[in-house]
Amino acid sequence: MILLDRVSKVYGKTSAALDRVSLHVEPKEFVIIVGPSGAGKSTFLKLLTREERPTSGKIIVGGIDYEHLKDKKIPLLRRKIGVVFQDFKLLPAKNVYENVAFALEIVGVGNKEIQHTVPRVLNIVGLSGKEKNYPKELSGGEMQRVAIARAIARQPKILIADEPTGNLDPKHAWDVIKVLEKINKYGTTVLLTTHNQDIVNKLKRRVITISGGKIVSDKVSGSYKV
Ligand code: ADP
Repeated sequence: MILLDRVSKVYGKTSAALDRVSLHVEPKEFVIIVGPSGAGKSTFLKLLTREERPTSGKIIVGGIDYEHLKDKKIPLLRRKIGVVFQDFKLLPAKNVYENVAFALEIVGVGNKEIQHTVPRVLNIVGLSGKEKNYPKELSGGEMQRVAIARAIARQPKILIADEPTGNLDPKHAWDVIKVLEKINKYGTTVLLTTHNQDIVNKLKRRVITISGGKIVSDKVSGSYKV
């Protein structure tokens, strides 16, 4: 599903943010990426979403070889990858239903399909009944679950969750993690970055530790050691 072969990224004249990273993630895996601040985690995620290009090395995601990826095909790639961020990025003037519907409208999905899809994804994230709430009327955990609903509405093959629990208290953090596990169970590959030791240690998933731009450990059922 995700293949990196000796991928390096050097910004400007600084030392490499990623240094010959090779990695293989199978479809339907749940992978946690940990590492100290500045380790290269965000750079890694930005290479996957094509916000950044590697200085060298090969990246193949869902059968798409990034070396031969034309700019006009980038939207197609982004449809395969849903992303959620620490700060949710919801539209404050739209309610829960509209936030999710809007993500479909902008890519040209028809009304009928929107009416079918939005309730389905809100049900998956446990927010049925909150359709009419505005972001300011939701808890942080609920806002993050709206963001997840929006990210999965287009049925991406991969969901990237970049510090999704960074702004949440433990209870809401776990609500969000449970939703990620559910989505993974339904068949989506999940990449999660987090600094939350408790979550990493309890999930018992593959843990990749990045430090100084290199993968320093990759464990099937790993724990948090940074
Ligand atoms: P992490 O997400 O693990 O905190 P980053 O990928 O953001 O790490 O950063 C890795 C290194 O690359 C850091 O030294 C950071 O300063 C540098 N870096 C990240 N983005 C840029 C950029 N746009 N321009 C220059 N340097 C950058």
